[in-house]
Amino acid sequence: MITLALSKGRIFDETLPLLKGAGIVPRGDPESSRKLILRTNRRDVRVVIVRATDVPTYVQYGAAELGVAGKDVLDEHGGQGLYQPLDLGIARCRMMVAVPVGFNYREAVRQGARLKVATKYVQTAREHFAAKGVHVDLIKLYGSMELAPLTGLADAIVDLVSTGNTLRANNLKAVEEIAPVSARLIVNQAALKVKRVAIQPVLDSFAAAVR
Ligand code: AMP
Repeated sequence: MITLALSKGRIFDETLPLLKGAGIVPRGDPESSRKLILRTNRRDVRVVIVRATDVPTYVQYGAAELGVAGKDVLDEHGGQGLYQPLDLGIARCRMMVAVPVGFNYREAVRQGARLKVATKYVQTAREHFAAKGVHVDLIKLYGSMELAPLTGLADAIVDLVSTGNTLRANNLKAVEEIAPVSARLIVNQAALKVKRVAIQPVLDSFAAAVR
């Protein structure tokens, strides 16, 4: 049995056509069903539905041999025990630094003052500002990062930006790109060795479906 870990929403929806290209069709829809394990048209493949941030953990420990996770999530997780053989090119967006429209970010960063940064992506933010030599106080949040600079909790946020509509709606502007983000296929390193005969064809089909 091969288990593929997916998250609901964008990742599931955009992975479906790639799965289909690989000859795998899940039975059921996680949006309308409460089932967390979906069977597929293939008796040897099943899909488990987990939180996006939990996908690398399921694959790291081998509870799932394969998974699809955003680069944002993988960078925070650290990627231990995982191969990342394929950029699926889906769920594309950008990891950005954003501040209130009237805030002079260049000046704040140049003066060497400490910047208060609120984010869900603490690792990513820490590495980004360390590489720039900017001192930051990081404040961990679990959602609605946009609210932090509007309430005085932080000067800046680090968050994913797709259309920019969320920033605009909250009077914020993106001032720096940290990295482009897209979803990656991830594979448990040990499983790839032990179950290569079963897993490699799925990897090859995914690669072909992406092309
Ligand atoms: P947008 O308003 O289109 O710029 O989208 C920004 C909001 O959607 C932010 O709250 C992001 O956290 C979220 N978002 C955008 N793209 C993605 C993605 N590829 N994966 C997960 N969340 C995303």
